[in-house]
Amino acid sequence: MTSGGDAPGMNAAIRAVVRASLYNDCEAFGIYNGYQGMIEGDIKQLGRFDVSNILQRGGTILKSARSQEFRTPEGRAKAAAQLRERGIDALVVIGGDGSFTGAKYFVQEHDIPVVGVPGTIDNDLYGTDSTIGYDTAVNTAVEAVDKIKDTASAHNRLFFVEVMGRDAGFIALRTAIATGAEAVLVPEIETDLTDLEHFIERDYNPKNSSGIVIVAEGEKSGGAYSIAEKVAQKHPEYDIRVSVLGHIQRGGSPSQFDRVLASQLGAAAVDALMDDQKSIMLGIMNKEIVHVPFNKTIKHTKNLNPGLLPLVRILSV
Ligand code: ATP
Repeated sequence: MTSGGDAPGMNAAIRAVVRASLYNDCEAFGIYNGYQGMIEGDIKQLGRFDVSNILQRGGTILKSARSQEFRTPEGRAKAAAQLRERGIDALVVIGGDGSFTGAKYFVQEHDIPVVGVPGTIDNDLYGTDSTIGYDTAVNTAVEAVDKIKDTASAHNRLFFVEVMGRDAGFIALRTAIATGAEAVLVPEIETDLTDLEHFIERDYNPKNSSGIVIVAEGEKSGGAYSIAEKVAQKHPEYDIRVSVLGHIQRGGSPSQFDRVLASQLGAAAVDALMDDQKSIMLGIMNKEIVHVPFNKTIKHTKNLNPGLLPLVRILSV
C-alpha cells in the first residue's frame, strides 16, 4: 500500500515488494487508495507482470489517499477484516510518519504485522538518511532554479523561489547549496529579516547582478510571497520576482538513487516480515539498511544537517 503524499520511487518500492514476495514463495496483493482502500476492500492480487515497466514511473500505480475513517478504531477494524477475508497476513506500508502512526495502532489492535518503507519527498523521517522521493524532488528543484537563474541574470533580478517542505527544510537547504543561492529560509529557523536584507545587500545589486533566495513553503513568516513583499517595501529599487515551484517537485521519473533505495528497502521490508518483525520502518543510515521501531521514527524529529546552513552563506560571499 502507498499512503500519504505520493513520491517518485514509490512504484519502484511496490515492484520490489511484489517481486521479493514472489521470490520468497509468497502471494502479493496491492491495496489501492491507501487506508481508505483497505477499509473498502479495494485490493487486488499482483503478479510478476503487474509490476513490469513501472520502476521508472513517478506517482504510484496503487494511488494514494488520506483516510479519516482509519483514524478511528472502527475504521481500522473494518480494514483488518478486509485483510483477513483474503488471507492477507502481513502488510507493507510505503508512506510517511502519519501512515506509520496509523500502522502502529493497527498492529496493536489486530496483531497483523506491518513494516514501513519511508516514501516522502520531504526527507523528514527520523531513522533514515534519505526517504524515497527526496533525491528526485531535489533534482527537480535544482533544474528549475538553474533555469530561473538564467533569466534572473539577464535582468538583474532578485528571485524568491519557493520549494516544497511544509514542516522541514531539507529540500530547500540542499537546493540552495546545489544552486549557489544567496540565502535559504527554512521552517526550523525563524527568519530574521534584517539579517536576510544584510545578505541580499551584500550579494545583490539591481544594476549589475542577480540573486536567488530559496524559501521552504513552511517558512514561518508566510512563504516566498510574504517575504518578497517585505523586502520590496524596504527596497523599492530591487527588481523582485517570486516563483513557486509547487507540484512539479512531486512528479517525474525517479532518480537512479531513489530507484535503488526503493528497491533495497522494498525487498528488505519483505525480508523483515519473513523474519517475524513488525512495527518497524526500514531505513538507510551510512549506506546500511536499518530497522527503526515505529515509535522512534514517529516521536523523534530529524534535524537538518547543521553544517550545511552556514555553507550557504560562506559560499555566497
Ligand atoms: P506525508 O509525509 O507525505 O504527508 P504521511 O504518511 O505522513 O505522508 P498523512 O496524511 O499524515 O501522511 O497520513 C496518511 C494516513 O495515515 C492518514 O490519511 C490516516 O488515514 C492515517 N493516519 C495518520 N495519522 C493517524 C493517526 N494518528 N491514527 C490513525 N491513522 C492515522
